[in-house]
Amino acid sequence: MEILESLPALRAFLNGRQTMSHKVGFVPTMGALHAGHLSLVQRAIEETDCCLVSIYVNPTQFNDAEDLKKYPSTLAEDLELLVQVGCAAVFLPDTPTMYPEGAQHTIKFGFGTLADTMEGNRKAHFSGVALVLSKLFNMIKPEVAYFGQKDYQQYLIVRRLVNVLCFDVKVRCCPTVRLPGGLALSSRNKRLSEEEKTDAQQLYAALKKVGEALSEGNTPTEAEAAGRQILNKTPNIKTEYLQIAHTDTLERLEKLPLPDKIFVGIAAKIGKVRLIDNVLLNKKNDQWVTYK
Ligand code: AMP
Repeated sequence: MEILESLPALRAFLNGRQTMSHKVGFVPTMGALHAGHLSLVQRAIEETDCCLVSIYVNPTQFNDAEDLKKYPSTLAEDLELLVQVGCAAVFLPDTPTMYPEGAQHTIKFGFGTLADTMEGNRKAHFSGVALVLSKLFNMIKPEVAYFGQKDYQQYLIVRRLVNVLCFDVKVRCCPTVRLPGGLALSSRNKRLSEEEKTDAQQLYAALKKVGEALSEGNTPTEAEAAGRQILNKTPNIKTEYLQIAHTDTLERLEKLPLPDKIFVGIAAKIGKVRLIDNVLLNKKNDQWVTYK
């Protein structure tokens, strides 16, 4: 695997690949890699000629300085995992490479209702995500870029970013990888104690409860309340939101009838660690089932 630590090294690598007409499949990450990230890498390997992963903890998407400082970093293990799965190259830019004018020079992106809700309430978060991805798309010019459903709102934002700025890249959304108890893999899980990991399983349990409550004929508001009740039983969980929304616009859906496909998103703090998760539900014969 090629380890590319500068923009000239990245460009030399890409030029070589271009002469072979190789299609690049790009997986942007912030490192502390786990099987969720690796599922995106595997998909990129299957679908393209050359999988390129970036590892960069982007300061402009953090609204909480403490969260940025505590973000886990496991570079040696990350590189080993990427070699094992057969990744072709990893790009490890530093902040002067990504922000030559300094990370205080940001651009404010407007994503309308898509960024007004849920994770959009983290001030400047999606502008930071859109900015760093625009830079990476410009540098790499991938054929396909891979994102996880775990960050579904981010995936929708990226789709819109690509449309609005006419980036010539296909955007794929890959399923969330979970532990057997249902906890979605996340780099932030590394900061949870064993007890907190058990508590955190309630996030997925609450999401499933929303689907069950809808299948029993409850309204969206009642179904959300049923999900919240599950979370309220665990004192170490502080729920930030649990809501049903439209799968394309993420507008909140509070009344029946619901469309046949819906999004249910959750954010909660387990102790000091903030986690997010979601499910996409499909109505079949009056039953709401997870379809992704
Ligand atoms: P991050 O390093 O957290 O920025 O994540 C990099 C990419 O991996 C994003 O597209 C995430 O949505 C995706 N990802 C994170 N966790 C998972 C997971 N459990 N399953 C699938 N994809 C994931």
